[in-house]
Amino acid sequence: MIRPIITLRRRRVIVDVDTQKDLMFADGKACIRNHRRVLANVRRVAAWARVKNLRMISTAQMCPAGNGCDHCIEGTGGQEKIRYTTRMRNCVFAADGCTDVPRDLFSSYDQVILNKRSMDPFNEPRADRILSELKVDEFIVIGTVTEESVKATVLGLLARRKHVTVLTDCVGSHNKGKAEVALRQMEAKGAKMIESKNMIGPSCLRLVGACGCDRCKGKMFKDAANNIA
Ligand SMILES: [Zn+2]
Repeated sequence: MIRPIITLRRRRVIVDVDTQKDLMFADGKACIRNHRRVLANVRRVAAWARVKNLRMISTAQMCPAGNGCDHCIEGTGGQEKIRYTTRMRNCVFAADGCTDVPRDLFSSYDQVILNKRSMDPFNEPRADRILSELKVDEFIVIGTVTEESVKATVLGLLARRKHVTVLTDCVGSHNKGKAEVALRQMEAKGAKMIESKNMIGPSCLRLVGACGCDRCKGKMFKDAANNIA
């Protein structure tokens, strides 16, 4: 008899796609266009997930140096995950082509971080196995980049007959038009689209506190007010 190796009797799991410094911070190598808003919303959802004790499956791009990639290169600070989306009890897997997964993974860890060499997590055998075998009622997707990794992740989950909810204000993009097309494709295939406030309530959060740019530190508004005066 084959015993299931991945057991998670929880209703929901957060799928945190590539929330890495190069993609989410103003000084990153490929920062998304709406980074301040997305960072603020991602922070809230990650905090909510912690309080609700929801498990997280995170993916992270890891490009080998000298491979022609311009961001998320192995060994650089830009490849690191942002701190909001990193849990204390996490387990990191290399993109090594293996499918081994320890038994009771989600009893021992709150978060599984899956490194990957391309946009599509299903190209990595272990990530494919974990995402495919995991039985939960809802996969809640946040992260970047909407028209790239988020799209590949969501369409892959939907193809495996999973229930997917995309938090539309927690996904960031490089190209607004392409992101809108990608979101429509995901919705057409069955993904539910909602804003985070409709899942976790409205926010009073003003400062983002991770990215060091003036907008995230709240200076922009003050400067703008001074300029007008
Ligand atoms: Zn910023």
